[in-house]
Amino acid sequence: WKHAPVHFRALLEISRFHGDKVFLAYEDEHITYEEHFRRAATLARRLVEEYGVGKGDRVAIAMRNYPEWVISFSAALAAGAIAVPLNAWWTQQELEFGLSDSGAKVLIADGERAAKLAASGPALIVTRGEVPEGARGFQDVLGEVAADVTLPDVELSPDDPATIFYTSGTTGVPKGALGSHRNLGQSPMTVAYSMLRAVVRAGKDPGEAAGQRRVTLLTVPLFHVTGCFAVMTTTMFSGGGLVLMYKWDAGRALELIEREKVTVFSGVPTNVWQLLSHPDLDKHDVSSLASLGYGGAPAPPKLLERITEQLPSRAPSNGYGMTETTALAINNSGSDYLAKPDSIGLPMPVVDVKIADPMGQELPAGEVGELCMRGPNVILGYWNRPAATAETIVGGWLHTGDLARMDEEGFVYIVDRAKDMVIRGGENVYCAEVEAALFEHPAVDDAAVIGIPHDELGEEVGAVVRLKSAATPEELQAFLRERIAAFKVPVRFWVREAELPRNPGGKILKTHLRKEVLGA
Ligand code: ATP
Ligand code: MG
Repeated sequence: WKHAPVHFRALLEISRFHGDKVFLAYEDEHITYEEHFRRAATLARRLVEEYGVGKGDRVAIAMRNYPEWVISFSAALAAGAIAVPLNAWWTQQELEFGLSDSGAKVLIADGERAAKLAASGPALIVTRGEVPEGARGFQDVLGEVAADVTLPDVELSPDDPATIFYTSGTTGVPKGALGSHRNLGQSPMTVAYSMLRAVVRAGKDPGEAAGQRRVTLLTVPLFHVTGCFAVMTTTMFSGGGLVLMYKWDAGRALELIEREKVTVFSGVPTNVWQLLSHPDLDKHDVSSLASLGYGGAPAPPKLLERITEQLPSRAPSNGYGMTETTALAINNSGSDYLAKPDSIGLPMPVVDVKIADPMGQELPAGEVGELCMRGPNVILGYWNRPAATAETIVGGWLHTGDLARMDEEGFVYIVDRAKDMVIRGGENVYCAEVEAALFEHPAVDDAAVIGIPHDELGEEVGAVVRLKSAATPEELQAFLRERIAAFKVPVRFWVREAELPRNPGGKILKTHLRKEVLGA
């Protein structure tokens, strides 16, 4: 090729050069790059020719992590449409919200999702399961896949919209983040940079690492940006293998690492935690595993300690990103990470970062303010939400809603989500700090810190914990008092038997927890 503009069609065409290497592995199915290209190109043609999909039309995808998810995503973008991945955990009502909010023309769903949806929605294509009346099966739509198939003719430019990803809904109703081809096009380069840096910083030979085939175990959903951009499209660009799971399961993950000779584990911090705690960890051959990448939610320093103890010489890497930054934006790895385990690291080269006061003015090093970012990874805006867009992206700067500080060397530290922070009698208490201290206690399996309304102080600090062995609130308080200031120590503890409620992004749903324990 002569010139590769930053858009998905170029990425897809480049991926074809990886030919008969395996791209997607799911259970016993293995799909090569050439096969993926042919199926995606064929489906793109069907979308254009049989479904009348044109540039800018929305094609929704509602599935578990099946190979068809990736084929559908590739096809939608190759057809010039905007791909709209919907959360496979959503209820019928939420799925219907996603379809109507995005105004999808076609929905490609798995049987489980299709069964939940009313017949009156967009044209429906169904894979893996029963095909309801009026819908068509995925294989039937695909028909014959020709060896010489080419992409349909569509003119794309880098700033055309490409995707609508819904935010995780941790702090409110999920918002559709409208991303461009430039946003997704920079992602493989950004991730490649961070991986190279992780290898170099771990003192390994980058040449050797570059020569090895990378096989990544995807433990998070494709319908969030981490799964799709930090992992899937990046893998597609580099020619590596992607091992898919129907759902996260630590025991199954260990089997897959051994069977598929996985070199990269990619997921949210809880997944790594569960992998390390699994009783079968020692029974499996995980020697192929070279690195562990995680992010999307706070990673307590204790996690790094456990990785170093239990899986030494793996390169751990903590990535910070948002739906609005097309996944990875800031990353900490290798010797940097060991030296500063509580930091999310340094901004990626394409990203400008500032810590700002409420007026948007940059604050000096060490001061806590709102983390703001600018660059070709920042989305175009929120779909159908001009007010939310104007509030969040101001003068090109994305306001993340995360409170952070930066040290003299430019390392960023997330202190809390602005919406989670507890203000106790005018003193700010950052939940993430208290949670990290709780994780140090050997009896604590999981923890979430929340504010409890208090007449005089405004708020008091409370904690919901899940324990793996007995510990009284008094013991936990005494333990914390040695680590954090007295006013930050929770005055009340709730012990939860069941796992703490988390969304698929690994984030604790604090609004649910507050309701559960406080009734408000
Ligand atoms: P919503 O915006 O709908 O409330 P959400 O913010 O959880 O949901 P995402 O875009 O999936 O939706 O998540 C981005 C957020 O995740 C960041 O703003 C930050 O709070 C958190 N986050 C991501 N990576 C990290 C990390 N490495 N460490 C700490 N927090 C992280
Ligand atoms: Mg958010």
